Amino acid sequence: MLQSKLFPKTKREAPKEAESINHKLLVRGGFIDQLMAGSWTLLPLGWRVVQKINQIIREEMDAIGGQEMLMPLLHPRSIWGETGRWGSAKDNPLGAQEVMYQFKDIRGKEYALSFTHEEIVMDLLRKNIKSYQDLPVYVYHFSTKFRNEPRARSGVLRGREFMMKDLYSAHVSEKDMMEYYEKVKVAYAKIFKRLGFNFRITEASGGVFTTNRTHEFQVLCDTGEDTIFYCDKCDWGENKEIFQGKEKGVCPKCKKGKIVKAKSIEVGNIFPLGTWYAERMRVYYADKNGMKKPVWFGSYGIGPTRVLGTLVEVSHDEKGIIWFPQVAPFAVHLIELPGAKNAKSVYDILKGEGIDVLWDDREVGAGEKFADADLIGIPVRLVVSRETGDKVEWKNRTSGKPELISLEDSINKLS
Ligand code: ATP
Ligand code: MG
Repeated sequence: MLQSKLFPKTKREAPKEAESINHKLLVRGGFIDQLMAGSWTLLPLGWRVVQKINQIIREEMDAIGGQEMLMPLLHPRSIWGETGRWGSAKDNPLGAQEVMYQFKDIRGKEYALSFTHEEIVMDLLRKNIKSYQDLPVYVYHFSTKFRNEPRARSGVLRGREFMMKDLYSAHVSEKDMMEYYEKVKVAYAKIFKRLGFNFRITEASGGVFTTNRTHEFQVLCDTGEDTIFYCDKCDWGENKEIFQGKEKGVCPKCKKGKIVKAKSIEVGNIFPLGTWYAERMRVYYADKNGMKKPVWFGSYGIGPTRVLGTLVEVSHDEKGIIWFPQVAPFAVHLIELPGAKNAKSVYDILKGEGIDVLWDDREVGAGEKFADADLIGIPVRLVVSRETGDKVEWKNRTSGKPELISLEDSINKLS
């Protein structure tokens, strides 16, 4: 990609209303644009990062048997009436009116914009499941969620419209559901590890989804909105909302470690929902003896756009973003300075090797090029100039002295 063609250009100043780091840096770098509070465009650079994130998630979902599909976002009121979630939290513990965007069309018909998809998956199951032989089912999609968030001030960490990967599983028994739940927990841990996060798994309540306990994936981050408690020795952890122990107390699980309190960002949440949805929506299967039984159900969410913001919150400096290589919008930033003779051929060779490269071919000063490269945050920078001859100068975004090496060596270092 030629930087002279990249839309839009970087910005020197962050927007006045921006409070959070991800909001400031992602807008300045040209990754995102705000339409209104909580509503964002993923610009070409931002979309590239989100696609990298999604691909990591997709690989791990497919590895546990997930089948990708795509469900609608416009839902009739009737389906939400079946579980009572159309109603208010004031009347019903799972009432979700407060988070749902509900509206009437010009003919008075009522709809909601999707804030989640349990009811929609249940409808698919009751149309397609007959016997135990049709189970289990594992389906997922990446799509937009709409939630009427009262506070939408932390950049892409909290959108009113945001992206989610949601997986749903249906089973013949609680045992089968819990076995799969544990598999998803492992898959989620792999995903967040691959994304480069320092995270903890914490027990939490189920919000408008379930009265059961759930598990959250929390990235340790001082600017996070959540507070968690975890053991410094074992895998025990709880969200503040259910924690009843003592800070700095002894871990209730291993009895050895100390309880640590930390700020964090919730990037994923898994829910063992049980038969609550199947009973309300009449989703039954026939077991081996022909007996009618309700389907056991789980749902599992990750917010890729929140992940995008979290990556910036945990990895940046005063000059800009520092992308981890696996999610960087480009693998290499090729910076062309005056007098360079080999920029075009370096670009073509890198591309020929299948390496994603952003070529700063603009006619601007070196200072501006380096400042933009620091802001955009691509992990590896290759500089070509009058002085580099037929070689390239390799420099990491964060550290190290520039190194003059051959193009061949830099390709080897990249792959
Ligand atoms: P929170 O407690 O932060 O409001 P939640 O618990 O309501 O989030 P879930 O229903 O568990 O969110 O959604 C699954 C995932 O979707 C979350 O772990 C998060 O990554 C993402 N997510 C949820 N709400 C938002 C939002 N408003 N903006 C961006 N991502 C979100
Ligand atoms: Mg949650």
